[in-house]
Amino acid sequence: EEEAKALANYPKEPRPPVVTIMGHVDHGKTSLLDYIRRTRVAAGEAGGITQHIGAYHVETPRGIITFLDTPGHEAFTAMRARGAQVTDIVILVVAADDGVMPQTKEAIAHAKAGNVPLVVAINKIDKPEANPDRVKQELVANEVIPEDYGGDVPFVCVSAKSGQGIDELLENVLLQAEILELKAVKEGPAKGVVIESRLDRGKGAVASVLVQAGTLKRGDIVLAGATFGRVRAMVDENGKSVQSAGPSIPVEIQGLSDVPQAGDELIVVSEERKARELANYRQGKYRDVKLARQVNDKLGGLFGQNPEGQKTLSLVIKSDVQGSQEALVHALTKLSTDEVKVSVVHAAVGGISESDINLAIASNAVVLGFNVRADALARKLAENNGIDIRYYNIIYDAVDDVKAAMSGMLAPERRENHVGLVEIRQVIRVPKVGAVAGCMVLEGVVRRNSHARLLRNNVIIWTGEINSLRRFKDDVKEVKAGAECGISLKGNDDIQVDDKLEIFEVEEVARTI
Ligand code: GDP
Repeated sequence: EEEAKALANYPKEPRPPVVTIMGHVDHGKTSLLDYIRRTRVAAGEAGGITQHIGAYHVETPRGIITFLDTPGHEAFTAMRARGAQVTDIVILVVAADDGVMPQTKEAIAHAKAGNVPLVVAINKIDKPEANPDRVKQELVANEVIPEDYGGDVPFVCVSAKSGQGIDELLENVLLQAEILELKAVKEGPAKGVVIESRLDRGKGAVASVLVQAGTLKRGDIVLAGATFGRVRAMVDENGKSVQSAGPSIPVEIQGLSDVPQAGDELIVVSEERKARELANYRQGKYRDVKLARQVNDKLGGLFGQNPEGQKTLSLVIKSDVQGSQEALVHALTKLSTDEVKVSVVHAAVGGISESDINLAIASNAVVLGFNVRADALARKLAENNGIDIRYYNIIYDAVDDVKAAMSGMLAPERRENHVGLVEIRQVIRVPKVGAVAGCMVLEGVVRRNSHARLLRNNVIIWTGEINSLRRFKDDVKEVKAGAECGISLKGNDDIQVDDKLEIFEVEEVARTI
């Protein structure tokens, strides 16, 4: 917290965008990353060799861009599932000769769920079979609308083979970045995220870190997830030793006590003792969080709430055929009310995969399988992260279950039941206790846990709870009509003879949709 405060005191400055490339297999993600890297990254110093550190940054005439070089949405969503937002912009690669394919759709869903803007690269434009117009139409059908169709998604035709269009692609990425107004403090202690990690025989624990704010320096004491240490060595993507790294710059560091996980947050702390304590605490705490999550799941509390107070029940829907998928999405989103919104973060045909579970973790969603099942890896991931997978073969069963889940999210209705009326006939001031009213119960009953409204000339002057209820100096649970009693009110001593107490009880009633 102290570190966060220290960071808040520095001015924010523009920072380079961080980009992830996504798309269907074989559409050219790796080729595109390689081409950009080969042609743009300044060669390392003599003897320096290109290193894979999980990311690299390129300098263009219009600015710096950082690429995460693990292509694909798995890494992106796995990180998001761990709460790390590392990507500012997604380049969606679609092969001009193949068009929109299942993983293209998944990538769109993942980017949308993460609220990350897209820049579309229609790749392989050098091929004779290339048909960029068809690709555009298919993307429009998937709600990715190009600028020339009135949308806000830039489309650029490129070839990772010849390099055609790649300058334009990078320009468009920087234009999107400008719109996003990405900023971070540059000075001060660093904050970042682990993008890759491994145990190296010679170097020990090695972590690639994307700095997100502040400047990471050699010698800094850092806490990364449940690990800590002093940054002993730091290299860039060319294997070149560096002394410091600012926002959006990736580096590989050595010196951690243990191997952190991709997606772990890294922060610089002032003392090693503090870092060690926090790391130890986190090792224990993570287990607790898991437990808390399991309990939460049992209570059906998998759900988020948006700032307007409307709660969201997020769903990932997988089904056997297009028809049932569409019918389910339609039937379930229609259930949304002002209080609970049903949001389908992803719907597709096919079995439930790890990617679906990662998406569910990242968006706090329940996974619905319609005539499909989860594979072993997906089941394990779901189990470890407390993700609920439900299977159906009848649409109405799914609708009923979602209705029940939505009902569980509604705040219970507060109902007041009038139970009695009391007249105050005498007021006694008792030292240390306050005002005690000598009363006559006129109607119904008064109980010790009742709520009351104090009426003076039929005007409500106070509402609250009864503090004590006595009859002949004994504490009693209830007093019925016709009997006398002594009452004190919680937090109110302003009582007078002839005031009346309207006695009521509060009941919480579950509501249903
Ligand atoms: P990834 O699975 O999306 O990473 O795809 P790759 O980068 O591995 O590319 C798949 C295949 O497409 C490889 O054989 C590439 O050589 C080829 N390829 C990629 N980009 C282009 C391109 O722009 N033009 C042509 N003709 N082939 C390409």
